[in-house]
Amino acid sequence: MHVSPNDNKRYRYFTLPNALRVLAVSDPAAHRSAAALSVNVGHFHDPADREGLAHFLEHMLFLGTDAYPLAGDFQRFISQHGGHNNAWTGTENTTFFFDIRPSQFRAALDRFSAFFISPRFDADAVDKERQSVDAEYRMKLNDDVRRIYQVHKETINPAHPFAKFSVGSLETLADRAGQSVRDDLIAFYHANYSANLMTLAVTGPQSLDELEAMAQQHFSAIINHDYSPLRIHEPLISAAQRRQWVTVEPLKEVRKLTLAFSLPESEYQYRTKPLSYIAHLLGYEGPGSLMSLLKSKGYINTLSAGGGISGKDFREFTLSLALTELGLSKLDDIITYVFQAIQLIRQYGVEAWRYQEKRQVQELAFYYQEPLRPIDTVSQLVMNMQHYDPIEVVYGDYMMAGFDHAQIQAMLQQMTVDNLRVTLIAKGFKYDKLAKWYDTPYAVKHFSEKQCEKWRTTYISPALTLPDPNPYIADALRPLPLEDDASDTPILIEELPGFRLWHGQEPHFRVPKGHVYIAIDSPHAVASVKNIVMTRLSVEMLLEALNEHAYQAEIAGINYNLYAHQGGVTLNISGFNDKQPLLLALILDTFSRRNFKPERFEVIKSQLKRNWENGAKNKPLSQLYNSMTGILQPNNPPYQALLDALDTVTLADLPEFVEAMFATLHVDMFVYGNWHRHQAKALAETVKDALRVDDQTYQESVRPLTLLDDCGTVSYELALDHAESALLVYYQSPDTSSEAVATYTLANHLMSATFFNELRTRQQLGYMVGAGNLPLNRHPGLIFYVQSPMAGPNQLMAAVDDFLNALFMILLEMSEARWQSSKQSLLAQIREPDNNLRARAQRYWISIGNKDYHYERREQVAEAMESLTRADMVRFVVNRLKPRTADRLVMHSCGSEHREHAELDGAHPIRDIDAFRAICGRSEE
Ligand SMILES: [Zn+2]
Repeated sequence: MHVSPNDNKRYRYFTLPNALRVLAVSDPAAHRSAAALSVNVGHFHDPADREGLAHFLEHMLFLGTDAYPLAGDFQRFISQHGGHNNAWTGTENTTFFFDIRPSQFRAALDRFSAFFISPRFDADAVDKERQSVDAEYRMKLNDDVRRIYQVHKETINPAHPFAKFSVGSLETLADRAGQSVRDDLIAFYHANYSANLMTLAVTGPQSLDELEAMAQQHFSAIINHDYSPLRIHEPLISAAQRRQWVTVEPLKEVRKLTLAFSLPESEYQYRTKPLSYIAHLLGYEGPGSLMSLLKSKGYINTLSAGGGISGKDFREFTLSLALTELGLSKLDDIITYVFQAIQLIRQYGVEAWRYQEKRQVQELAFYYQEPLRPIDTVSQLVMNMQHYDPIEVVYGDYMMAGFDHAQIQAMLQQMTVDNLRVTLIAKGFKYDKLAKWYDTPYAVKHFSEKQCEKWRTTYISPALTLPDPNPYIADALRPLPLEDDASDTPILIEELPGFRLWHGQEPHFRVPKGHVYIAIDSPHAVASVKNIVMTRLSVEMLLEALNEHAYQAEIAGINYNLYAHQGGVTLNISGFNDKQPLLLALILDTFSRRNFKPERFEVIKSQLKRNWENGAKNKPLSQLYNSMTGILQPNNPPYQALLDALDTVTLADLPEFVEAMFATLHVDMFVYGNWHRHQAKALAETVKDALRVDDQTYQESVRPLTLLDDCGTVSYELALDHAESALLVYYQSPDTSSEAVATYTLANHLMSATFFNELRTRQQLGYMVGAGNLPLNRHPGLIFYVQSPMAGPNQLMAAVDDFLNALFMILLEMSEARWQSSKQSLLAQIREPDNNLRARAQRYWISIGNKDYHYERREQVAEAMESLTRADMVRFVVNRLKPRTADRLVMHSCGSEHREHAELDGAHPIRDIDAFRAICGRSEE
């Protein structure tokens, strides 16, 4: 098997007697085990009169087997032992996966494999889970991605299985005369699921022999019917859909143009990747690119190439463009330029050196790939096993086996007007059709002769050119030797007024990669909502000015990100570190020029405006969350406040604002990974020069948090135009000690699976249900949330309160063994070592932000947790969480379907946020 020389895991690929293909991956250093199983059965297999059946089956397999008949048993077992599980149904595959503590792997596999051996499909569970699928469908009724996806389905060849509705609903899954959905479910399962269509990936610290034996023992009993994989004989696009122009009305303020070429199946070309080569050139963002040209004309904001749906027998290749207002009136011209760019590649762009360059980047990425979490490893590999040759399951995604001029040209020859379909997503057009299931308005016409003629161009604008060789591809391919005094943890190596530098040469992962963080705190940046908005505008303008020139760096595996936060802005550079100084110099240079172009200012302002307006249309739970953090974190205003302030900002405000911001800086810098100390210092010098840091005396910005001590239950209602109701309950710890973090974290771990099982699986209140940890600033916290098509906020609140009132009993009734194993698995999770350099760099950076300069916090939390007793937890639940006495914030919105239901009672409504904050305490970090 082809694996990276830097990969210390061991692999074994084998086939069980029932034809199940298995990949075992042994990683002695792993702290958890994981498994994934994929079956080559997806929504394409749904019977015409039972749309969504494959998806429904995916849900039902979790809900009871002969060996383990209880519906919530699998989930509870996994989460009790510190694991996670999930599944998804795609077009041609359904995939299930989980992870868990290694000591429980065998027991978990016994439960997991039973899904595919003896599922029960209990009538009662079938009946309830149907509601859950329906809630999943209804939850996405206002989701543009789904709404537009449905139009896509309706405008391709109706005889192709992609045309079918994939989610399912109460209607498609209803019992009909003489035909119960349970019978259909069982029939579907037996007619499609078969061991020969399945792949299984297992990983853990166990040896290959042990893993193989476990696979054999638990999965050999899956029946092999020797079914053939589904072949699709219908083309995705038939003559009637060629040269088709579809206009779709979105709910959100978006303007998007998608060009889709229908190409022959290309999965078998994974070794040479001709389409990635083409996507790389068409999607290029540097000077002379299609993107650069269309942007300079003011037609578009973003462009991406190479997406599109694909399967065993079909492939779409798309180009997606986010349009400006002006672009919306220049569609024919935009498409003309696209064809010119394709023509340019056809004539001059198919060259071996370009392929080699891309290949080198891929090889580097493969050689020095960062270890994934075990659950991600198996989820990825199990899909690769479905598509790639056994020897290439690890390498397949990266491999570029050789430049094949003819193969690339053959693909380019198919990117013609006759093979094109265009989808325009924008408001303000005429739509004469409504998509089924989602009621999306849309219209279909064909290209005019005039359009076709215009697009069959052979002319190429001189403004379009091909990329230059990439200067950012790493030369130094070996990690630097370790310095004599290299330390495991970061060390503060420079401390001046207003400037601190931490450095660490990472001794463990030994990859030629590095992370640079530069946090620029400025009280002026966050002094008012208007300043917060100006900070974000400046960030966007800077990113925009950078993009064209920094794009090559991204291609070469160096990433950069600049983002605004509660204290100012942070710049992060990561990836191969060899050429990072070059990129940093470019960024700082762009920074210092502060070139605020008026035409781009207007475009970016309107883009931000649309983003925030769209945020204000997100699903109810997201909006409750956004509004809640707005109440609690004054430096993190909600969308509406940002929008109001944005209206008042003009271009003339920016230069002065930025000057004032730079006059009061405090900079924390962290250079970590493959860097020697003198290199870190050199990077710091360039930063200090560019930001004019000298003798500053400024402190970090203050990050205020509203405290809820002694406020009782307070509530805030959001009036939203949505069918479903939503409720979010937030508990905040008054103190930030390690003991408090341990208590809140353990409480969440002990109850979240039960909460989910109670409100979603048993009561069927909605699809989005959960409990989680929510630390804000440094205060630990807990949230409970539910979004429901079934019940209004008062009923949801009652369900949450019933749960919380019963919680101490659940804790008391828990067996000693279960209590111990829950706690131990959480402790193991907390102490789990970092998976890769990225995770480690991030953890240290967060520690620095939390002023945990000895990097001991994690261990202190673990120690505090070790000493927590069951009595402590019961006391915590009774004193802090019990509804009658708790301090908590309840965010809620009433769905249009529930206006008749009783209003939320038992809470003090917040009428005025400022007044509320004034009576509350406030922490300032
Ligand atoms: Zn689902």
